[in-house]
Amino acid sequence: MAGAETATYDLGFAKWVAGNISGADKLSMCMQCGMCSGSCPIGTQMDHGPRKLIMMIRAGMRDAVLSANTLWNCTQCYNCTVRCPRGIPVTEILQGLATVAVAEGHAGGEPTARFSEAFWWSLAKFGRTDERLVTSRFYFSAGLAEGVRKSRENLAIALRMIKARRMHLGAPHKIKRRKNLQAILAKAREIEARGAGEGD
Ligand code: SF4
Ligand code: SF4
Repeated sequence: MAGAETATYDLGFAKWVAGNISGADKLSMCMQCGMCSGSCPIGTQMDHGPRKLIMMIRAGMRDAVLSANTLWNCTQCYNCTVRCPRGIPVTEILQGLATVAVAEGHAGGEPTARFSEAFWWSLAKFGRTDERLVTSRFYFSAGLAEGVRKSRENLAIALRMIKARRMHLGAPHKIKRRKNLQAILAKAREIEARGAGEGD
């Protein structure tokens, strides 16, 4: 039927999550009590609350789980984790799923994911976050028109920050021995890739 929604199911997804996401080996203990969703301060701003997301993992709804804004709207307040009667580290699991969502291309449009990318770009390049470059990279990650619109919208704020010496002009601040930082990050990526391979 035209326009009808279809869901795809990956029946091995729950097992994969349990074996590859930190803390998710405890997911089988979830009794669907809803304490996590009931405790979540921004559950109304999520596509699916944490309880439902766990049910979807079990059902094998891989794409729907990895595309859910739940992963990005979670503020990591840990309410769900400390209140779960089964000791399931819900927050940690959501963070792990967000990393997978980025790696598999499900998070492109999410502002939090785009901001995170801009933040890490600056950190890896300079060893510091340059607020001007992070902000402009974030703005333009949504496209040229959106970048120009957001830049214009916030120009007055930027000028006030420069005047108050809260934002500097000139070259970005950089740490010394950036090559050492980049070698550490390269090693961390290598270890992460090795770990991902072992989990296959
Ligand atoms: S609070 Fe814990 S046991 Fe209850 S639904 Fe959430 S994750 Fe499952
Ligand atoms: S950690 Fe995230 S999912 Fe858990 S209660 Fe806080 S905002 Fe909600």
